[in-house]
Amino acid sequence: MPDAQEAVRRLAVVGAGPRGVMLLERLLARLEGSAPGAHPARLRIDVVDPYPPGPGRVWRTDQSELYLMNTPAFFPTACAADNPGLRPSTAAQTFDQWRRVHPEASLGVQRHQYPARAVYGRYLRHLYQDVVAGLRARPEVADVVEHRAEVTALHPTTAGGARLELRDADGAASELAADAVVLCLGHQPAELSPGQARMAAAARGRDDLHYQGPQIPSDVDWDTVEPGARVLVRGMGLNAFDLLAQLTQGRGGVYRRTGDGPGRALAYEPSGREPRVHLMSRRGVPYLPKAEVDAFVPRGVTLSYLSDAAVDALSARHGALDLAEHLWPLLHRDVVRHYYATLVRAQPEILGGPVEARRFLDELVGQLEEAGRGAPVTSAHAEELLQRYAPGRRFLDILAYTAPFEDAVFASHEDYQRAVADLMEQACVEAALGEESPFMMAVGALHAGRLRIKAWVAEGRIAEDSRIRDVQGWFEPLVEGLASGPPLWRVEQMLAVHRAGLLTWAGPAPVVDAEERAFSVRSPQVGAADSLGPAVVEGEWLVEAMMPPNRVQAASSPLIRGMLDDGVAAAGTWEDEEGVRVPATGFDVTGRPHRLRAADGAVHEDVYVLGLQLSGVQWGTAIAAEAGADPAGRALFLADADAVAQAVLAG
Ligand SMILES: Cc1cc2nc3c(=O)[nH]c(=O)nc-3n(C[C@H](O)[C@H](O)[C@H](O)COP(=O)(O)OP(=O)(O)OC[C@H]3O[C@@H](n4cnc5c(N)ncnc54)[C@H](O)[C@@H]3O)c2cc1C
Repeated sequence: MPDAQEAVRRLAVVGAGPRGVMLLERLLARLEGSAPGAHPARLRIDVVDPYPPGPGRVWRTDQSELYLMNTPAFFPTACAADNPGLRPSTAAQTFDQWRRVHPEASLGVQRHQYPARAVYGRYLRHLYQDVVAGLRARPEVADVVEHRAEVTALHPTTAGGARLELRDADGAASELAADAVVLCLGHQPAELSPGQARMAAAARGRDDLHYQGPQIPSDVDWDTVEPGARVLVRGMGLNAFDLLAQLTQGRGGVYRRTGDGPGRALAYEPSGREPRVHLMSRRGVPYLPKAEVDAFVPRGVTLSYLSDAAVDALSARHGALDLAEHLWPLLHRDVVRHYYATLVRAQPEILGGPVEARRFLDELVGQLEEAGRGAPVTSAHAEELLQRYAPGRRFLDILAYTAPFEDAVFASHEDYQRAVADLMEQACVEAALGEESPFMMAVGALHAGRLRIKAWVAEGRIAEDSRIRDVQGWFEPLVEGLASGPPLWRVEQMLAVHRAGLLTWAGPAPVVDAEERAFSVRSPQVGAADSLGPAVVEGEWLVEAMMPPNRVQAASSPLIRGMLDDGVAAAGTWEDEEGVRVPATGFDVTGRPHRLRAADGAVHEDVYVLGLQLSGVQWGTAIAAEAGADPAGRALFLADADAVAQAVLAG
């Protein structure tokens, strides 16, 4: 311990999930890389989280192993290991490196498999412990002290730094003084939207109706859903797949291989303890499965048109870029090119045989190289060309996948089930083809484009109005539904449960109501076979299969609410197309190292923000950093943490 005379600088790290660990690892790396005596004040680090530090809340090691990561083992890292330009600490290990050394703790998960979230939590715990041991061994570190508590308030002090109020699990309050604070708050509880609050109110005080609001799935007690209950589920993304695993395998049901091809590869044998599940979403279809490929972006995908050089030239000419006007026409050409190049390689017979297919591709690429700015014009020319080689074949309309049934009408609930099952079975076939699927390669190009656009958003190169109108408005929903789905076998499981008679889908644009007897859902696009009205499905349960929104204004935690109410923090703003400033989703912060700004615009020099609450200046703040990736791009969050570590040490 330091003696009383020694200068000690106190750093509070609030939140010790992946971002908190990342920050600590960057501190260690920087200390290990600095000259002796470079940091005269010793550092006392207080780590505050009500959950075990390392895994934190999301990656708790005691959660069901049926909850899986949505990124394969080779992808995530919570520290700089093979990331160019970032010096790793002696404790650094990516998840993939850790699981190879710890086959038992990692349940034998392989590089391309999707680990249980509890297993990723073990990695985070291990990494955290190693990093903290490394920090404690440093002469520049006075101590690392853990507090199993929630920070309920932050009061900046006139001398800089802040006074934090803490509350532990027993409700006991305490205080902590800090010269610097780093907020790594991650996923936060949020207020219900007015529509959700109405549904919650309908179920309040009743034993026969149950409402489950947005929540991290592992925080929900699924055992309270009775066997045979009818469960309406709003959302068909990853939370819905989590819920399905709990209510099938988690109830003792078994998936067996059928020996059939993709889309019909599994059969479900119920235990008899399952509820019946009715899934719904605005689009009316579940997220599509990920392609079976061995990289985060298929190896065969390169962006020829949405290139850095092209985008640099556009930036030089236009300043802030508009996604729809400047970037989408380029990305669309990459999407088209990958689709047809794969078709030519994998199924040339569709275009009249290998020679004709090659000629088609040469002509198409010639067109794309010269294409003007608008995607519709590119499509119209390419479609004409396609008709010469494959008369009657429809040209790829990737935007139509945002809402595949937008203009469709279904005569009955049963008709709709067939349509969704067919679409999802076909998606499984495509996913199984991996890089041989034209569709999955088009989606791969879209996904690669999203990753580049994320980096440009973080660099402030995308106009704010275009972020609202385009990135949030249509691009994100499109790419999420196509490229952020579960692994293939999770969709196989969903189809198997459907065939077992335990799962149906409600139609697009569903309308949910709380009736006297039950919750109900109907889609204006799906008729009832026995009446002139829409098909209606009822349920005793209504579950929102989604995370609480990542929006500081909606956060219900005392810390964020208090900071906003006291003016210690404010939501950032974006300028919309009318030039009006509208609230962004994250805190108002400076550029990197992302210091917090107060409501009056003053900068808190010693309060930093990392992770989800940076969503006003970044896009896609939830996802982990990618092992081995460039800190200017897919490992941006490591660079953020590194910059904060540098600023804290410069203190
Ligand atoms: C269910 C789920 C599955 C996911 N799966 C993947 C995946 O497969 N791949 C991927 O890349 N990303 C995934 N993500 C995204 C996820 O956001 C990141 O992987 C990661 O968890 C973000 O780390 P974080 O530290 O920023 O936030 P979190 O993991 O949310 O950690 C924040 C920590 O801060 C603590 N905290 C919050 N408020 C306070 C307070 N007031 N006082 C003290 N402590 C506080 C919390 O208890 C928590 O431990 C998933 C997210 C969720 C919710």
